[in-house]
Amino acid sequence: MALSGLQIQKLLPKTNCKECGSNTCLAFAMKLAAKQADLSLCPYASDEAKRVLGAASEPPVKAIGLGPQAALKLGEETVLYRHEKTFVHQTALAVSVRDTDPPAVTEQTLRQIRDYVLERVGERLLVDMVCVHGTAGNADAFVALAKQAWEVTQRPLVLRNADAAALVRAAAAVKGSGSVLAAATAETQAVLVAAAQAHGHALAVSAPDLNGLVQLTAQIKQAGFNELLLQFDTHSPAERFQTNAIARRAALKDGCKALGYPSLAFVDSTDPLAATPAAVTEIAKYGGICVLPVFDPALLSVLMTLRLNLYTDPQKPIQVEPKLYAVGEPTPDSPVFVTTNFSLTYFIVSGEIENSGISAWLLVPECEGMSVLTAWAAGKFSGASIAKFAKQIDLEGQVRRRTLVIPGYVAQISGDLEECLPGWEVLVGPPEAGDLESFVKARFMARA
Ligand code: SF4
Repeated sequence: MALSGLQIQKLLPKTNCKECGSNTCLAFAMKLAAKQADLSLCPYASDEAKRVLGAASEPPVKAIGLGPQAALKLGEETVLYRHEKTFVHQTALAVSVRDTDPPAVTEQTLRQIRDYVLERVGERLLVDMVCVHGTAGNADAFVALAKQAWEVTQRPLVLRNADAAALVRAAAAVKGSGSVLAAATAETQAVLVAAAQAHGHALAVSAPDLNGLVQLTAQIKQAGFNELLLQFDTHSPAERFQTNAIARRAALKDGCKALGYPSLAFVDSTDPLAATPAAVTEIAKYGGICVLPVFDPALLSVLMTLRLNLYTDPQKPIQVEPKLYAVGEPTPDSPVFVTTNFSLTYFIVSGEIENSGISAWLLVPECEGMSVLTAWAAGKFSGASIAKFAKQIDLEGQVRRRTLVIPGYVAQISGDLEECLPGWEVLVGPPEAGDLESFVKARFMARA
């Protein structure tokens, strides 16, 4: 749990020697509490201070890295609500294959998982993981499927099997994949911890209730293994929602380290009306990994879009690079449209220009990822700033035609812009990008 400045000060030498750059130990303690300084700046900090402050600075939800280079990150969350700061690592989405599926179906599903890409506001979104579900009671088939899933997709796996011996064999077969074994119970934890540790995997832990889960994770951590995920044993969507919230609140607000791990949840219903709200609940309410029962591009696109919205840092909107973009195949005589570098705005405007049937240039100055009106209100999208950017990138050297189209919402900057860019005709476009097509047809196609 986070310590206050006064609590930290009690751990410092209290000599006020100033070597850390602060005038007093209390001032330094306040900076440490606000995470504006590091304890290493104090050369006299005791081992006890380092131990206590080190533990206090750990994120309340442990970071778990999956995949060969631990590239798929989970956990490290610090807030219950996105608007308090930001969510850190998004819910990983996995798709299931079963050892009872016909081989041709399995092969096709694995290829679909591997090849699926959803493009949203300039980001390429992929399926993060594959869940290999052993349901046949046949360890050989389960191990073979785990190997196949890893070889085809090269994505970390969720190895799901009630048979601990089969899990141990599969863990060895996909050593180096940085997967998750699901799941250890009080009875199987010793053998599965050993397998996870030996082959570089994480371990999901399951118990009939939260108290049992707390005891089990604490026991495993004390035994020296801490790459854990929580698998809640719930029986209804309401219970799932409640349990997810209780566990995360306990970790964040009550300092319950035994529940401070990402979670793993299985959505087993193939009915979209049941599967969709269950998966949405996981994404919205703290899910670490959400396993979907089948490969369904329609469901994936909905969930990935929701996830992108929730896990975008509200303090850092998704941005595109400030520069002059070609829409279609513009020539030096094509007109220049202007918009901000907020990704959503950029993609909507460029799409609408493309739909209008002409090729054009799109000038996108640095606006810190704000939308048009917000950037204008913040002074980041003014006549002077657009003109300055146009000069910086030598717009006049790249474009012969001197026509700039600005968004209708900032019609008031047209005079300033014309003053700052002598020789340019500034046209006021429509306020809404959806009206660009008719604007283009009236202004440019009619003239042509
Ligand atoms: S260096 Fe350490 S002992 Fe000296 S003022 Fe800073 S916190 Fe206090």
